[in-house]
Amino acid sequence: MSSKKLSGAQQRKRKREQEADAKIAGLFMQRFLKLGQTEVDDKEESDIDNVGQEAVNDPPSCYQLDDSLMTSAIQLQPSNSSTQTAEATSDSKQRMLLDSHDFGYIDFDSITGLSNVANNLRMELISRGPEVFQNKNANFAVSAGRSMTLTWFKRSLPNGEEVNRSWLLYSPSKKSVYCFCCVLFTSTSSNSRSSFELSFGFCNWRHTERLRDHENSPSHRISFTKWKELEHRISQGMLIDMEVEKQIQNEKQKWREVLKRILACIKFLASQNLALRGHCESLAEDDTECYNIGNFLATMKLIAQFDPLLSSHLQHSKNVPGSVSYLSPRIQNEFISLLASTVRKQIYSVIFDETNIMD
Ligand SMILES: [Zn+2]
Repeated sequence: MSSKKLSGAQQRKRKREQEADAKIAGLFMQRFLKLGQTEVDDKEESDIDNVGQEAVNDPPSCYQLDDSLMTSAIQLQPSNSSTQTAEATSDSKQRMLLDSHDFGYIDFDSITGLSNVANNLRMELISRGPEVFQNKNANFAVSAGRSMTLTWFKRSLPNGEEVNRSWLLYSPSKKSVYCFCCVLFTSTSSNSRSSFELSFGFCNWRHTERLRDHENSPSHRISFTKWKELEHRISQGMLIDMEVEKQIQNEKQKWREVLKRILACIKFLASQNLALRGHCESLAEDDTECYNIGNFLATMKLIAQFDPLLSSHLQHSKNVPGSVSYLSPRIQNEFISLLASTVRKQIYSVIFDETNIMD
């Protein structure tokens, strides 16, 4: 929500910077795809440097740091020893991160520039809170005669109130700033990469408006929401393992699908004025072929011949008598009652509307 309208020149400049950022992200991806090659394309090296020049007149040191990291990573030959070394480096980085409270020690992928944050580390960092990692009292690095200031950690609202930018973190080691939530919850969309979430961080001190652009971006808002949700769950002790949560969601979806089929069957029989029940409401008894199980169960069995989900549900109900199945006469009557209630309400609504028109 910008209260000040940008001039045409400012808008063109902003667009050039955004295009430069997009080009850098594209080059990262090209390098990622060419990882198997033994030689690094010198032209691409210079392309990235040139983009940096386009984005800012005085390329910040954090861009150069990232390039050196990237080159050394590409030159490494894949081997067991290098994997072990990488794991050891990752562990030592994690220790440095937690001990020195410096987000520059987050494990960033040297090719894509994106963070690799394990679940347990993410929860540890959120439990500690971003304030610990903001480093507000650090000596902010000076680049081209400019540096960030303490005012960056504050944001003015339209009503004049000032609030803390809790997401903004300064890294003394990288001499740049990061976004707490975007680093911890990396966006899946490659179109929304921001310097605040990549390995080199943001250090273009003369463009303070990029802070506002970032915090208003959709990808930041999504990451911010995920952060606050996880923070709330941690504080409430409602943390459930991700796998367990996924299973719960799958189970919910399965029951929704089963209920949809049951309801569709009841609606069909009711609309045709057919009786639902037979002589015996038991799937198990049907095998003897001595009973009429009724139109409802017979129709469900017919659908199950072509529907694996319903087939599995009926088989489970048959094998485990007494398990929840939503097939009993009581459930059928409840559904019919709910359908009747809905129809009555619609009829009353139509009568009421017509009465009002006549008045
Ligand atoms: Zn962000």
